[in-house]
Amino acid sequence: MQIRCTYCQTMFALSHEDMLAALEHMEENKQIYYPAHCPKCRRANRVERARMERFFPDWKKAIKTMAKESTQTETAAKGATANSEAVKPTPAPKAAIKQEKKPAPKLKTKPAGRKKK
Ligand SMILES: [Zn+2]
Repeated sequence: MQIRCTYCQTMFALSHEDMLAALEHMEENKQIYYPAHCPKCRRANRVERARMERFFPDWKKAIKTMAKESTQTETAAKGATANSEAVKPTPAPKAAIKQEKKPAPKLKTKPAGRKKK
């Protein structure tokens, strides 16, 4: 969302990540304003929580999704480490070779025998 600094009129943007952090912070501290610091004059601009929520209505969902994703990544990383030791060359290639050799073209000998007569 775009914010205009009330002190120097500079427009600056809050990303979804910024808003998510701000909303989480406000929720924890029971605040209704977030001090968005202007990149130019570095003064805090009060951004109403309600206004931010209008821009990002799914923020609670987004936090949950993020928490879930981080847990999943952790589990996956752990699993990968545990598996790397147990990984052995798979027996699949052998089977593949066998199958390739099998379909040998069968020659029909019947016609040859007939011609000799
Ligand atoms: Zn400013």
